[in-house]
This record gives sequence, structure tokens and C-alpha cells, in this order.
Amino acid sequence: MPTPFPFPFARALRFSTAAARVRVPRAAAMVWGLALWLALVGNLPLWQRIDGLGGSLGYRVVLIAGLGALLTCAIAALLWLFAWPRVFRPVASVLLVVAGANSYFMWRYGVVMDPTMLANTLHTDVREVRDLMSWSLLGALLLVAGLPLWALWRQPRFLHGGWRRVGHNAAGLLAAFALLVVTALMSYQGLASLMRNHKDLRYMANPLNSVYAATWVAAERLPRQAKPLLPVGEDARLGASYDHQARPPLLLLVIGETARAQNFGLNGYARDTTPALARWRAGGDLVNFSQVRSCGTNTLVSVPCLFSPLSRTQGGNQPADRENLLDVLQRAGLAVLWIDNQAGCKGVCNRVPHVYTNDQPVPALCPGGECLDAAMLDGLDARLEALDPARRARGVVLVMHQMGSHGPAYAARSPDGAKPFLPECRSNALPECSQQELVNAYDNSIAYTDRFLDQALQWLSARAAQGRNDTGLVYVSDHGESLGENGLYLHGVPYALAPDQQTHVPMVAWFSSGLRQRAGLSLDCLRARSAEPLSHDNVFHTVLGLMDVRTGAREPALDALAPCSSGG
Ligand SMILES: [Zn+2]
Repeated sequence: MPTPFPFPFARALRFSTAAARVRVPRAAAMVWGLALWLALVGNLPLWQRIDGLGGSLGYRVVLIAGLGALLTCAIAALLWLFAWPRVFRPVASVLLVVAGANSYFMWRYGVVMDPTMLANTLHTDVREVRDLMSWSLLGALLLVAGLPLWALWRQPRFLHGGWRRVGHNAAGLLAAFALLVVTALMSYQGLASLMRNHKDLRYMANPLNSVYAATWVAAERLPRQAKPLLPVGEDARLGASYDHQARPPLLLLVIGETARAQNFGLNGYARDTTPALARWRAGGDLVNFSQVRSCGTNTLVSVPCLFSPLSRTQGGNQPADRENLLDVLQRAGLAVLWIDNQAGCKGVCNRVPHVYTNDQPVPALCPGGECLDAAMLDGLDARLEALDPARRARGVVLVMHQMGSHGPAYAARSPDGAKPFLPECRSNALPECSQQELVNAYDNSIAYTDRFLDQALQWLSARAAQGRNDTGLVYVSDHGESLGENGLYLHGVPYALAPDQQTHVPMVAWFSSGLRQRAGLSLDCLRARSAEPLSHDNVFHTVLGLMDVRTGAREPALDALAPCSSGG
């Protein structure tokens, strides 16, 4: 049955032309038809790429079907936003042409569309565009965009305006979104692992990659972004412990990656994943804090939050609008150095000296261009010597940002010869490994962190023994990890829904006797309180207290060491 034509002008058409007798697609048919076409035909390079990743045929088919359904729903939701008269057809046409062009450049040049790529494209001149034109580009455009463009523009105006349109679009958007959520939940397991390991795939998803890139580039140019950060701790100064000090303090703050408290030997895990830390604890100077909560379930939220003066509930989990702990330490006159063995400091270290292990890779520790965490300890004395001498003479705060237990390639986080738990999962498709192999690979990464912290502690205690510094170490992980519990893998579940494994993180602290005396710390007191709840909220205030930096920005109530310190 043809749908009745709702418009007066169209009724006239019905009498006058044969074309009008053709069934006019409702908006829903057009939106979903286009979404399906864009998702499937507009992403041929993506499907080809996933097909080439290996794994069983069934595994690949499930991935492609799941991702295809997810993309269809997301594109439909996007199209519903633009389903207005005089808006829909131009917008849909642009999306079709963009998907065709993207497909061509992915297939031909292996490039993917991300914000940097789009920014580059926007700066391309006519000559460069002409160089890229070819008959095969035209062919790709015809293949991806030809048929749907013809279907789209041959229809008479098929969208009515007014309030009915608002209702239809809202209902369409809601339905697309609901289907998106259901599809995402059903295919989370396989897709999360896939996306984490092949980050470029997300930039291959046409045409959403371009919509995302355009939004990102536009947002970056908004004047709001140019607004300077709010200053924090402008009154910061060093306390009385720095007057006539015998040795400058040196604190090493290790930001762990993806370590969960549950698999930490010190927290009573059935396996001894932390034998070295256990020895340091037996030695009497290391305290394990067993009840620590992360601020977020991913690095981008947790790392800035760890250094924020704001607690999680105050907005520490939001993109930073103000300075952080490192700015305050530097303002007080201390030397600060960030050493990164990961994908960067998420803006935290922008205003303090920072180095990346990948900039000068140590061959023995950086096989295949990716460094083991021990690379951060290489040449550390020389790195310290290079810091501003006047600041260094007052005191130093070093930050090491670990690769830790970053998944899904857990096996890559520990070197051969340092793997106590075998056999381990060596595949990045986590659900394809046995549970035991998966846990083995993860536990090996925790054991390697134990080894790394052991080396760091040896370095710190040697500097203390040589009388060069009063040293200390604080280690805390950024968030935890799911290893298949409740069908969940990796991390990043919205905080309110996140399982314990993703937010319960390990934390330890170690102090040389010199630093203990400076801060008036009682280790017996700390040990007695070590099972009390703490969180990333405490880090900003605790480090300022430990380093005796006086500022109104520090809240003594959030200083985890204050109850056991005579300094205050
Ligand atoms: Zn992380």
C-alpha cells in the first residue's frame, strides 16, 4: 500500500505525473535505509581490515556484524538530528560523499580520518587537491554515494515541517539510541578488546570519523578553549623544614596503569604477584594502603583528577579548568620532572619539564619501539642533574607515568624471563584466550610492576644512604581492570556502573628515615590506619603535606598522612 501523500503540493503532483504514484518513503525508511547503506557500503575498508586481523571466521563475522549494527544505529541517530525539510538532503549528501572519499583514501593510501587529518585537509590547497583527483576516486564516489544520492534526490520533498516533525524526529532519535545501547551491550566484549588494541579502527568508521573530527576541530577553535587555566595555590611557599636543610627531599610519585587492587599480592591475593614489595614492607619502611578508590575508570579522567585540587565530586573528574599539583609544587620553588612511558600526561605536565621514554629509546628496554617501564629508571641521575640547580637544591618531585598493565596486550608488559605465571595469553582478542592464560598474562604485568618499583626503591634508598636526598615513593594506579568478570574486559565502564575491579586500585608509600623525620611521620600509626578508605582525592593534599608546601589550596583533612604526622 502506498503511503498517502501528506502535502497539498504533492497531491497536485499525484494527478499530474506518473512519478508521484510511486510509493513515497517515509522519513524513517529513508533514514534507516541511508544509515544501513552508509554503515555497510561506506565502510568497506574497515570490514576488509577487520577481516585481515585474523582469528576464526566466526569471530570475524561476529565482530563485523556487531560493529555494522552499532554503526547503523549511530548513523541513524545522527541522521534523525538533521531530518528537517531543506536540511536533510544536503546533510545526507555531504555524508555520502565524505564516506566515499574517506573510503577511497583509506583503501588507496591507508590514511584514516582523525582531527589532525581533517585539520590538514582543511589546509590543503587547490594544487594538492588536483593531485589527488583520479578516475578511481570518481569510481569510489560512484560506488559509495551514487545510488543513494539518486534515491535521495529523485524523491519529491518528503519531509513535512512543524511540530509533528519534532515529535517524529524525537521518537526516531530515541529509537535509534535505544537500539544503539542494546547493540553496544550485546557486542561489548569483542568490540572493546578490538578497539583498545587497534585504536586506528575508530578513525576508520565512516562517516562518523569525519563528524567527530569536525566537531573536535571546531571545539578546539572556540574562544573558550583559549581561556587561561585558573591559578591554584598562588600563595604556595616552602615550609620551615627547608630552612638550613641537610639534604633536599626527593619524592618519586609513580602513576600506575590499569593495576587493580585485587591482583596485588600485598592485598592478600592468592598469588604472590608482589614479592619485592613484600620484602620492603617486611623491612619496615613501606606501607600498603588496601582500600583506595580511583577517580575514573580510564586514564583520561583519572590522571588529571589525581593531580587536581578538586575532589571527584567537586569536578576533579571533568576536563581541567585550573592548574594542578605540579604547578603548585613548581610555584613553591621545587624542581618537577614528569617521565612518561605512555601516551602522554593528558595535559598535567604541560607547564613542567617532561620527557618521553620513546624520544630516546634504550635499545635493551624498548623492543619494537615500545619501552618497558624500567626505561624510565635508565640514566635517572643524569636526568636529575639536568634540572634547574637552584630548584634541585631545594627539593625534587619526580613523576613516572607507567605503561603498567595496559591491555589488552598484557603479555607485552613483561619481558621474557620475568614471567612467573605461564602459559600466558599472547592474543589481543581477549575472549579467545582461556581465563587462566588471561589472568596469567595480567599477573605477569603486575609482577613486572613489582620488579620496577623494587628497582625504583633501590635507587631511592641508595640516594638516601649516600646522603644526597631524603627520599620517598608514593605509588598509586590510575584505575583497575576487568578480566572477564561478568563478561567484562578492559576498563572504562561509566563510573556509577563500574565493577569493583575497575575502581579499587593498589597504593603503597615508602619513606627513608630522613624524610620520615622531616615530616614527623609515624609509620606505626600509618600501618594501623592503612586499611582506612582513601581515594585519588587525597593525592593533591597528601603530596603538598609531605613536601611541606604551605598554601591555602591544601586541605589538611584530605592529607592521608596528616593524622600520623607531627608536622601538620
Ligand atoms: Zn589508565
